[in-house]
Amino acid sequence: NFYKAAQDNPGVMLTKGDVLNIEEDSSGNIIVEVDNTMLGEKVRIEADMLVLATGMETNMMPADRNVNDLTPEYVGKWKETETQDGIIKEVIADPVVLNLDYRQGPELPYQSYGFPDSHFICFPYETRRTGIYAAGAVRAPMTGLQAIADASGAALKAIQCLELTSQGKAVHPRVGDQTFPEINFNTCTQCRRCTVECPFGALDEDEKGTPKTNTYRCRRCGTCMGACPQKIISFNDYTIDMVASMMKAINVPDDTEKPRFIALICENDAYPSIDIAALNRMKFSPFFRFITLRCLGGTNLVWVAEALSTGVDGIILIGCKYGDDYQCHFIKGSQMCNERLGKVQETLGRLMLEAERVKQVELAMNEWDQIPQILDDFAEEVKGFGPNPFKGF
Ligand code: SF4
Ligand code: SF4
Repeated sequence: NFYKAAQDNPGVMLTKGDVLNIEEDSSGNIIVEVDNTMLGEKVRIEADMLVLATGMETNMMPADRNVNDLTPEYVGKWKETETQDGIIKEVIADPVVLNLDYRQGPELPYQSYGFPDSHFICFPYETRRTGIYAAGAVRAPMTGLQAIADASGAALKAIQCLELTSQGKAVHPRVGDQTFPEINFNTCTQCRRCTVECPFGALDEDEKGTPKTNTYRCRRCGTCMGACPQKIISFNDYTIDMVASMMKAINVPDDTEKPRFIALICENDAYPSIDIAALNRMKFSPFFRFITLRCLGGTNLVWVAEALSTGVDGIILIGCKYGDDYQCHFIKGSQMCNERLGKVQETLGRLMLEAERVKQVELAMNEWDQIPQILDDFAEEVKGFGPNPFKGF
């Protein structure tokens, strides 16, 4: 194809960057100045020909609105609500195109240029609203041929969604999962954390803030379980107590020469990465014990506090990359975990422990060869603080 041919042509230089300036020098050559995002430096390129690309604007944003009106993910306004469990900051979204009946807002969440957030790493036409698929130029700027391929993929995903949800099963990425989040409403404080943090807007709420589950929309990520300060959200086969019991069952040697580290790893990228590293017989510190989570978004801070108070020397959480180029299979799980860990300092302070004993690492599956270094570096760093003083109690 054209791109491949250009790559193979020694006269063509491909780079990723922001064009800062285009000018003609005294000899009539075209000089393009680029802020090169790969090398992290500015480069000046003398070019024989300059092609100015035209842009394509999303029509998900009506003419009277502008991408600059976007708060994170929605056109709307910020709102802060004080609850028994702290202040919840959220965006109240305005209806623009779809007018969906979702507690998180009537639209698909947007990305920064106003296209819907439908860039899942494996199935790009998936959106954050189960059963709605964005294809073609609705999803991203593309040609007619690309749009045809995109639409075929979206149609196949829609068929799969109809089949699976009619059987009570989850769609991508936990295809076939038949568990649902169950909420023990007796102790719900209506704090709304679960309804605000669900990456798929699957939870609605009544006027008092009590969550209402929508099983067909749910992807079974467990982010709501990790978000709930009351620890009252669970699945048949996945609960806060279950993971806490797994942590408690890990032997913590009294011998200070034998530290104990726990690695909480997501099942999507981190677990396969560690598996590949092991299959390749890569060696790393033997003092780690691994517990797999559906997504780091399910991390509840109570696990961290309990493990450290039983003498575990350090906890590393390994999950997918987050941010603009996220690779999290549940969109925001690893990001939500990172935000929650920001609050773990308080717990560590209370236990008089160093903040560095708890660390989150972002990992893509093709970075599996970095696993030994990541684990060994963490082990060395924590060993430098000495053993956890709670050891032996
Ligand atoms: S499991 Fe995930 S998708 Fe389902 S309600 Fe909880 S946060 Fe939302
Ligand atoms: S279920 Fe938990 S997170 Fe959701 S509103 Fe109730 S207390 Fe808050």
